Amino acid sequence: MREPAGEGRLMVHPVDTGASEFRMLRSLSASIGADPLLVQGAGGNTSIKQAGVLWIKASGTWLKNARDDEIMVPVALAPLLDAVAHRSPAAETAGQFTLVDLNPRQLRPSIETTVHALLPQKIVVHVHCVETISIAVQANAEALLEERLRGLDWALVPYRRPGLPLAQAISERLKPATNVLVLGNHGLVVAADTVAEAALLLQRVTGLLARPPRPSPSPDLDALLRLAAGSDYRLPASAAAHAVATDLASCRIAASGSLYPDHVIFLGVGSVIAGPGENAAAVVARTGSAPTSILFPGKGVLMRRDANAGAEAMARCLSDVVARVDGAARVNYLSPKENAELLNWDAEKYRQQLNREGATLQ
Ligand SMILES: [Zn+2]
Repeated sequence: MREPAGEGRLMVHPVDTGASEFRMLRSLSASIGADPLLVQGAGGNTSIKQAGVLWIKASGTWLKNARDDEIMVPVALAPLLDAVAHRSPAAETAGQFTLVDLNPRQLRPSIETTVHALLPQKIVVHVHCVETISIAVQANAEALLEERLRGLDWALVPYRRPGLPLAQAISERLKPATNVLVLGNHGLVVAADTVAEAALLLQRVTGLLARPPRPSPSPDLDALLRLAAGSDYRLPASAAAHAVATDLASCRIAASGSLYPDHVIFLGVGSVIAGPGENAAAVVARTGSAPTSILFPGKGVLMRRDANAGAEAMARCLSDVVARVDGAARVNYLSPKENAELLNWDAEKYRQQLNREGATLQ
């Protein structure tokens, strides 16, 4: 376990520039949160370390609202790092380290707070960048990253559930100069000592990892509306969500399982694919459940009528990710055990509950 980013380090930089850095971080967070290729729904998070306090996005809130709403939660850094070092269950959600007096809305810190705490840099930005995820789900991700991130201080961290397991995996791979983490089947983290540097690094890495999505045929909206008739299903909010079904290579990739945690949390395990001639009602009858989304190969996607903004964002994200994975690529999927540990984790149940309530904390 590396030495924690102690308060000594933070005291070297007086807090006088703190207010403007904080403002700049909120502004950067809002612009990142408004880009669906970087952040979807309540995913992603940012943080700043000031005078021994880690200010981090609250669980279940949306980064795009960071400029207008108070969504940053103060967490005492030293005791949290101590808990991580001792693998204390208290580090799982970091909730008990929040500074109550500075947290009038009683928000919970992000479930990924430990990721931010472990990096010593002052500013940490974590995104579910689709360019990154499309590489981070591939079996040869390390080789692909070596090609593209040459010259940068990056590390690939194998998939672990957020919380303590992910914190431990990061600790094992972090070197003093590391400022880019690619999280397997998950996303990207960049760190820097100023907001401006973090923004530049994020731009640089996402640029290096970017590839054009595979073009996909247009959805067959008439057919989809016929397939939805008499059911509780409707068209998705974003036309971009259809590509995962209209492009058959993408559909095959999605059909084999769950690729990253927020898909499991907001859309369920894997993807439900309609069989030939099946309409939405027939899929519901066959599966004995009402999946949040149904993929109709060659035609497009239907969403359950009550699917909310978080689910809509994840439906589009799936299209954006798989369109960037080569049809012949070897893909790593979350295992049944990994799917189950996400769905049974109390911290994730809290995020699901906020999402069901219409993401009132957006
Ligand atoms: Zn994440």
